[in-house]
Amino acid sequence: MYATAGSDDPYLVIRGVTKRFGPFTALQDIDLDIHKGEFVSFLGPSGCGKTTLLRAISGLDVQTTGSICQGGRDISSLPVSQRDFGIVFQSYALFPNLKIKDNVGYGLVSAGKSRKEIADRVMYLLGMVGLADQAEKYPSQLSGGQQQRVSLARALALSPGLLLLDEPLSALDARVRARLRGEIRELQQRLGITTIMVTHDQEEALTMSDRIVVMSKGRIEQIGTPDEVYRRPASPFVADFVGRMNFISGKLVDGGAADCKGAMLRFVGELPYAPGTPVTICLRPEDVVVREVSAGSNVFDVDVGVMEFMGNHFSTTLHVQGSNLNISADLSMNDVRDLGIKPGARVLASLPTDRLRVFASAA
Ligand code: ATP
Repeated sequence: MYATAGSDDPYLVIRGVTKRFGPFTALQDIDLDIHKGEFVSFLGPSGCGKTTLLRAISGLDVQTTGSICQGGRDISSLPVSQRDFGIVFQSYALFPNLKIKDNVGYGLVSAGKSRKEIADRVMYLLGMVGLADQAEKYPSQLSGGQQQRVSLARALALSPGLLLLDEPLSALDARVRARLRGEIRELQQRLGITTIMVTHDQEEALTMSDRIVVMSKGRIEQIGTPDEVYRRPASPFVADFVGRMNFISGKLVDGGAADCKGAMLRFVGELPYAPGTPVTICLRPEDVVVREVSAGSNVFDVDVGVMEFMGNHFSTTLHVQGSNLNISADLSMNDVRDLGIKPGARVLASLPTDRLRVFASAA
């Protein structure tokens, strides 16, 4: 029914989109290409503009400047009714007085399909989201997760080119959310439908997306695969927003090393800044190595401080000997047991050079 990802021309092309509400700029000069079949998440803190961008794509709001093309068609100023998308809202937005089958079939009726076509399509869609036996019920008789599946079926009823998901899982409890996350992704891949999801939940974005658009203050901070965004954050903002991170401040001693509170940290690559330039070095707690460490760059004697049991690892504070540097490290249960790591112990730790991300700090 849908083409799969891979064609070279982007399916959705956003150029120079700005949105102002009076004097306030909610979106600033957004450029973005999305390919057919991709699952793209808009991720960012409250107020960063992700919903505004989704609304501009849907036509529910119109951008102040810039253009949006979908499937080669300029939709910049088309009314909602002439655009080709299905949408799922956080609040389900089902009609409470209509049965589930009539909620799903609503758009098909408006589109003038025959009764038989509608009945067949509705049952197909309800089967697809695992609710074939709920057709005769009303929304209030379904759980939140089931209602959201109905919304999804309704959004897909007219086989739209684009599926828009506006915080679809936020209203659900953690277990339902985790299950539906997998179901939506599986369905999206099966159909190959181009999908954009707005979320402020990094885990949701990392697990579901082909690419993530990280936004802050109306601008795009980074566009990348989940792995790129997690492993190679483009800015301290992204590093902070996606996953947990050590932020280590220091001063360059040369292009490839910095003095961080008395500890010398080396990193891969050469920074084009003068010695003395302040930098922020980012390191994921899970990248700290304590097993089979031998002397080398960024290998330190560390004193073990607080250890918090997190279920599958220990979140541990390590104090680098002979410096004022403290590092947060996630140590596996096996490492802790095998190496006899406990508060007060002294061990050898490596902060791998290729795992450090270095940013020149604002002066
Ligand atoms: P949230 O997760 O809280 O919904 P968001 O990233 O989706 O955040 P938007 O809803 O896109 O944020 O809003 C971006 C900014 O634009 C916010 O500061 C918001 O207050 C402002 N804004 C959004 N809609 C309007 C409006 N109709 N009038 C005035 N300001 C608005």
